[in-house]
Amino acid sequence: MNLAGKRALVTGASRGIGAGIAKALAAEGADVAITYEKSADSAAKIVDVIKAGGRKAVAIQADSADVAAVQASVAKTVAALGGLDILVNNAGILRLGGLNDISLEDIDALLDVNVRSPMIASKAALPHLGKGGRIITIGSYFADRVPSPALGVYAASKSALAAFTKALARELGPRDVTVNLVQPGSIDTDMNPASGPTAETLKQFMALGRYGATDDIANAVAFLASAKAKYITGSTLTVDGGANA
Ligand code: NDP
Repeated sequence: MNLAGKRALVTGASRGIGAGIAKALAAEGADVAITYEKSADSAAKIVDVIKAGGRKAVAIQADSADVAAVQASVAKTVAALGGLDILVNNAGILRLGGLNDISLEDIDALLDVNVRSPMIASKAALPHLGKGGRIITIGSYFADRVPSPALGVYAASKSALAAFTKALARELGPRDVTVNLVQPGSIDTDMNPASGPTAETLKQFMALGRYGATDDIANAVAFLASAKAKYITGSTLTVDGGANA
């Protein structure tokens, strides 16, 4: 196993891509803390799956829009697992609307959850990450190509993560901590179901012609978290079935 002895925190991991990442890191030997906002039952099930595989796991309720809750989630992870080696900033929300239509509340929510939260969690994690530490953030392929005006603020929130990733890679390089961004394409989750008119439109952009699965992103994250990726930092890995090809 590639991650034996490592301690990981995955934000927003009660469902979808985050749940897949948490299970993949545990399958590689890591102990894992997860955060969630509302889905306590789903989070408990992910914890049970990980524990059944022989790893430590803990679920922490923490709204990513709440700075104190995000900071506390890092402290609770360290207390529960005995340290922190891998932070995965996955929690994110989608709110649609062109600039004329989108509300100020939705703009604030997108920036708070998708942009500020990864910064706050990373800042809180800094004192704990030793040599070989990892910060991996989940962006979006819509950071590179924006096929609808309704995606503007969401796409901007995800674009911000690329610059943040590069700067933090430079800041933490001297400590041998790597920082990378994974940009999923359309992955079948509650946020972006693989059926319906929107899905059929999005599939037309994809070289592979189909939605991805949460495993497709989780495998990329598990690789970046491993020692095999020790010379990769400040990078963006787009996993989108060729949608931006
Ligand atoms: P889902 O909506 O399916 O799941 C979101 C997860 O994040 C849930 O565990 C949810 O917790 C948690 N979450 C949402 N808001 C908050 C919050 N305020 N505080 C804490 N946790 C929160 O999303 P996906 O799995 O599809 O997306 C995961 C990430 O991948 C996001 O960053 C998203 O932007 C990105 N992404 C997804 C794509 C896709 O096609 N699915 C494409 C590109 C990027 P709870 O269950 O408690 O609500």
